[in-house]
Amino acid sequence: MSGFMQGKRGLIMGVANNHSIAWGISKALHAQGAELAFTFQGEALGKRVKPLAAEVNSDIVLPCDVEDIASVDAVFAALKERWGTIDFVVHAIGFSDKNELKGLYADTTRENFVRTMVISCFSFTEIAKRAAAMMNPGGSILTLTYNGSQRVIPNYNVMGVAKAALEASMRYLAADYGPRDIRVNAISAGPVRTLAGAGISDARAMYSWNQKNAPLRRTASIEDIGGSALYLLSDLSRGVTGEVHYVDAGYNITSMPVLDQLMR
Ligand code: NAD
Repeated sequence: MSGFMQGKRGLIMGVANNHSIAWGISKALHAQGAELAFTFQGEALGKRVKPLAAEVNSDIVLPCDVEDIASVDAVFAALKERWGTIDFVVHAIGFSDKNELKGLYADTTRENFVRTMVISCFSFTEIAKRAAAMMNPGGSILTLTYNGSQRVIPNYNVMGVAKAALEASMRYLAADYGPRDIRVNAISAGPVRTLAGAGISDARAMYSWNQKNAPLRRTASIEDIGGSALYLLSDLSRGVTGEVHYVDAGYNITSMPVLDQLMR
């Protein structure tokens, strides 16, 4: 099985290091022949992203901070000049002040609420709009979400609210661009040990709880998520849009701890 992405070009936004979900997705796309471009946020992360990009034969590595819309515009202008069109984009960007990823949701400040929403939610709309303008029919746009959007997950707080809005945005964008045969979907990933994941209080406990209680008795790896992203970004999923696809070893279907957990 190879070559699903042969001839396709796309942008990956959100690689911080080799533990990033976006990196798992990049590896799966590269293995199937996709040509990739990357963004990085700030020079410190750029030093990590450039060698990773080289591993997948990419020399397009561009700075981008989604709080600065000019830097987003510059990315798409550079891609337009280099490639003309793109076939897919991956938005794997999220941020909230870690001091508010603990305690009560009710204590969220207005300042962090707005910042979290702009970075973790509205940036997807801004990016999808620019990407769709460069896409032919058959294009695919993907974002990353978490089940804290649907259920109350301790400490996830304002990020859960932002992910709920992100999922709703994804559906509206799918309706906007569907008539042009451009698809928009989200992967709801289970907990992964990444830089962003570590910002959530008690992340380790959450991770091992999921390992013990998910139907597959493990968490999803970045390679698992990469495989599902490959499906959603390739023509294999050409009839799928506006979907939140869970890649969480089945954890979201559970309603209570497995019985042997309760007995301890
Ligand atoms: P990560 O830390 O590897 O990636 C997060 C990325 O967001 C980083 O590359 C960071 O540079 C980028 N980012 C943050 N603020 C930005 C800004 N202002 N401008 C541009 N980029 C910015 O962590 P990850 O876990 O791979 O996160 C990727 C996505 O997956 C996020 O949306 C996250 O919410 C989501 N997600 C993570 C988990 C998990 O458990 N780790 C689970 C479900 C969903």
